[in-house]
Amino acid sequence: MQRIGVFVCWCGSNIAGTVDVKAVSEALKNEPGVVFSTNYQYMCSQAGQNLIKDAIKEHHLTGIVVCSCSPRMHENTFRKTAQSAGINPYMVEIANVREQCSWVHKDMPVGTEKAIILGKAAVAKVNLNTPLTPGESPVTKRALVIGGGIAGIQTALDIADAGFPVDIVETKPTIGGKMAQLDKTFPTLDCAACILTPKMVDVAQNEKIRIFSYSEVTDVKGFVGNFDVTIKRRARYVKEDICIVSNNIHIINSTLDLLYPLYKVAFLNKQVNGQINNITYI
Ligand code: SF4
Repeated sequence: MQRIGVFVCWCGSNIAGTVDVKAVSEALKNEPGVVFSTNYQYMCSQAGQNLIKDAIKEHHLTGIVVCSCSPRMHENTFRKTAQSAGINPYMVEIANVREQCSWVHKDMPVGTEKAIILGKAAVAKVNLNTPLTPGESPVTKRALVIGGGIAGIQTALDIADAGFPVDIVETKPTIGGKMAQLDKTFPTLDCAACILTPKMVDVAQNEKIRIFSYSEVTDVKGFVGNFDVTIKRRARYVKEDICIVSNNIHIINSTLDLLYPLYKVAFLNKQVNGQINNITYI
């Protein structure tokens, strides 16, 4: 069972103006694992940090919850504080009762109730946390971009310009995406092709970029820095002389356009050559 300390910050009147900080620290006292709960005006100040360190030592705390501002502001501050008092820094959780609570509520009872809920969630998390040790893992320095529209093209160019190899996977036979179908772009009414085509050429000519067009990602395994991706590449072309089709064929037009454009061309060629009597598009 953890021994958790809860520290509710006033942030002057930033939090205390809308949240009853004393009520919050009182309510969190009764949560599972909590052995100490208090509130203080400026928890990130030296005096506030000393209060945390003293409580860790005095109450033999194994984890702490700080109800304060966004973790982006002071998570590191409180992790270092806890570490210097002998607690694993990853046993620190922040309940953001400022940005997510006092700054967005005018009504004190509502703000206070929400702060208590956020505090309870943070306490529950510390109860489930285990001490962590930072480590290092080798990272494969290459990237996969799924989708060869303008966003995918620009992303691939940016990554390649940063010096890393990139693969683009695009389901259609060509990159370019929707932008290639547009005439002008909003709001400047610039010619879409004038923006897109130089980038398509850049991508095609960039030695660090490989394009897998008419392909799709069928499986992704692994984790950040060590992904294992399976790419299914469709046939690059159709050999019409050995392509056998029925004499009368019915085609769901949109499906063929989308999925099998190369077959459609082959069918049409066979019809022109008199090899197919009748194609019905549905
Ligand atoms: S810890 Fe955050 S909420 Fe508390 S006083 Fe410092 S800045 Fe304000």
